[in-house]
Amino acid sequence: MKNIIFIAPPAAGKGTQSNLVSEKYHIPHISTGDILREVMKEDSEIGEYVLETISSGGLVKDDIMYTLLEKRLHEKDCQNGYILDGFPRNVEQAKKYDEILKRLGQELGYVISLEIDEKLLAKRITGRRVCEDCGAIYNINVPSELPEIESTCDLCGGNLYQRNDDNLESFQNRYQVYLEKTGPLLEYYKNKHILYQIDGNLSIEEVFKRIAMVLEGYYDND
Ligand SMILES: [Zn+2]
Repeated sequence: MKNIIFIAPPAAGKGTQSNLVSEKYHIPHISTGDILREVMKEDSEIGEYVLETISSGGLVKDDIMYTLLEKRLHEKDCQNGYILDGFPRNVEQAKKYDEILKRLGQELGYVISLEIDEKLLAKRITGRRVCEDCGAIYNINVPSELPEIESTCDLCGGNLYQRNDDNLESFQNRYQVYLEKTGPLLEYYKNKHILYQIDGNLSIEEVFKRIAMVLEGYYDND
């Protein structure tokens, strides 16, 4: 297995696909959010800094993020590959990531981007509901992701709510930012001939089938 970077707009199903790949190929799913949550629990200078920054609504400095990421990728479970989710987000970060890989003696592997219609994304975002007790995610606009009982979590019976930023206006802003940052990033990886663009409008199963084909060498990227 090789290293995998997932690039996709908000609500395109990146987390779901990452988990499926992680299970099937036994490689860790690494997201920068998880790295930060882990380090926040640590009783260290860097842990305190991250905790303070995030609780005050700030953004962790890029340099710190690079250090934490490199440390994580150095761990044993990453030796046979991993899925990177939420990083890099722009060309500057991609170049830093190249440097990290060089130091680790590793190759880029695959960059998989999920291409999906803006209208469908908007529908998914505005339909998203989250369990206030266990965090499970449902979607009232996607038949296969509906809870069994309206507004109630299948797993724990908790109440479902809509996140503040899961509205159309916030989505359009986030999507605009995504397009601006990601366009050049996709170009960057395309030039390295490791970019695989997958149709993310398909069902979870169909998208996963195509990703598996990429990872098993049955998909042409040019
Ligand atoms: Zn729940």
